[in-house]
Amino acid sequence: MNIAGNIANIEERIQRACNNAGRKRDEIVLMGVTKFISLERIKEAYQSGIRCFGESKVKEAAEKFDSFKIDHPEAQLHLIGSLQRNKSKQAALFFDCIQSVDRDELVDELVKHSMFRAEPLKVLLELHTGEDTKSGYADLDALYKAAEKILKSGNLKPAGLMTMAPYTTDDNLIRLSFRQLRNAQKELEKRFPPYENWSCLSMGMSNDFETAIEEGSNLLRIGGAIFKD
Ligand SMILES: *Cc1c(COP(=O)(O)O)cnc(C)c1O
Repeated sequence: MNIAGNIANIEERIQRACNNAGRKRDEIVLMGVTKFISLERIKEAYQSGIRCFGESKVKEAAEKFDSFKIDHPEAQLHLIGSLQRNKSKQAALFFDCIQSVDRDELVDELVKHSMFRAEPLKVLLELHTGEDTKSGYADLDALYKAAEKILKSGNLKPAGLMTMAPYTTDDNLIRLSFRQLRNAQKELEKRFPPYENWSCLSMGMSNDFETAIEEGSNLLRIGGAIFKD
């Protein structure tokens, strides 16, 4: 199937999951994850209505999206992969949002480099909720400390939380992971209002997005299901 067909198929599944969960489709953003995907195919996804894109590497994103961003100023580009310190300056200036903020050293770097932006840089805090890699803050206490740093900075705008569920067919494990993120969101909202600081819940990939919708996701990061042949 082509990209338009894949997206139509995903849209049907999103709508069905929304119906089951008593949610509205327009609460949820469908991000196209475009790592390893050519600009040609990214443009096809754009033609089919995708306006939010996720890349996992700074260099690859810069190469593909440099002119695309100028031609399509309403398109949003997020970094979703782990960010090394030596790439943080370029990342802070190029992306609309960094979803993979996973340590305080990185917060400091992003604060420093975001000074040169016209608008504050949106960031999501990544929480480790049991996926196989080690990325993400370990617990709520660590999130609180990072949140304080971000709110004090003025250059960064907190927007919410991100996680990756474990890669498994066990739906219960996936659900537990998403629930941890939702709970963390509730605690952060209480401690650091307003709600808008934490409103984005980025969770759900090709293999688990329906569960993510049931558990409150409002940003689905989908690669394979959109770009498969
Ligand atoms: C690759 C990737 C995705 C998309 O995964 P698919 O299974 O291809 O949908 C989502 N989030 C992150 C952080 C990724 O690295």
